[in-house]
Amino acid sequence: MSLYVLAKEKLTGFVEALQPNFRVVGPVRTQHGYAFDDITDAAQLELIYPTTILPPKKYFLPQRETLFKFHTDSDEQGSRRMKMEPVFQDVQPTVIFGVHTCDMNGILLYDRMFETGYQDEHYIARREQTYVIGVECLSPCDDASFCKDMGTLTAPPVYDLHITEVDGLYLVDTGSEKGEQLLLKYAEVKMATTEDIRQLGQSLSSKWPRFRHRLKMGKDQLPSLLTINYGANTWDELGAKCLACGSCTSVCPTCFCFDVQDEVDISMEDGERFRQWDSCQLYEFALVAGGHNFRDSKASRIRHRFMRKAKYNQQVHGLIGCTGCGRCERACLAHIAIPTTLNALYEETQIDAGR
Ligand code: SF4
Ligand code: SF4
Repeated sequence: MSLYVLAKEKLTGFVEALQPNFRVVGPVRTQHGYAFDDITDAAQLELIYPTTILPPKKYFLPQRETLFKFHTDSDEQGSRRMKMEPVFQDVQPTVIFGVHTCDMNGILLYDRMFETGYQDEHYIARREQTYVIGVECLSPCDDASFCKDMGTLTAPPVYDLHITEVDGLYLVDTGSEKGEQLLLKYAEVKMATTEDIRQLGQSLSSKWPRFRHRLKMGKDQLPSLLTINYGANTWDELGAKCLACGSCTSVCPTCFCFDVQDEVDISMEDGERFRQWDSCQLYEFALVAGGHNFRDSKASRIRHRFMRKAKYNQQVHGLIGCTGCGRCERACLAHIAIPTTLNALYEETQIDAGR
């Protein structure tokens, strides 16, 4: 793809040119931290920001969405019949500005999950209407993050445009044809020179020492670490601390579980099927008919979350299930953190191995 130069002062003009034609969202400062929200004034958009409260997953999988509406009535012979009408709620051309590399890795997993195998037409409809504009992370954005350990400090190929600030300019890489068309139509840019390309390479390679490691092991060791520690006491200890609030899964860019329910009108003729975010940390998640619960203890549920993040997703989707964004650590009132737990398991395993 191609590399363009956008003068920093032209970013506002780019946003303003998009606004009549697209829903434009990006990280904005709120009372409680940064959040992806609608950009109503181009000056609100900040490209250097600490991790947002929620990742941009809410634009692809809303917290609640109607999947279809249904209507039942009787034909002339008195037989009941049902009509179903799919609903594609809030599907509109959208541009998401300023997505960090960890969150782009979250989108990569979402694409793998919703677009391969059984394809999710609601997700795909939104994804096709969305432009992802990434921003290169040149310095750590949050104390709780461990993106360098999880290999998510480079942008995966999910972006339409990707912005890197180099020497007071924005260098914009085009990741898709639709991204390049968007840029050329709505922004004032010029082609990058050989010198711009050289500076970009230098800037990308010199960023690594600024980020720290938080894990004592490589991410490739995580699946076996968790397998070995399936029966560890750690899970009971964490289960005793966990409040089972589900905040960790709500804020996670790679958690995608939802519950599907039907809501029927009082007439018993009309209704809708909707889905809403669910959490494996809640008691009801694995409760089935007959009152049996596959994971009725908090210990088993928290172990399952760790297994999903660092083992199962890798096995099923070929991608790590944790981007190291650090949101769950910040959201957890019980102070349960993924790096601390994995490091403790690792140290415990080393001690056992040395016995
Ligand atoms: S598990 Fe925690 S650190 Fe990992 S991606 Fe989810 S919220 Fe971020
Ligand atoms: S946020 Fe913390 S307390 Fe709440 S369910 Fe997750 S691990 Fe448990």
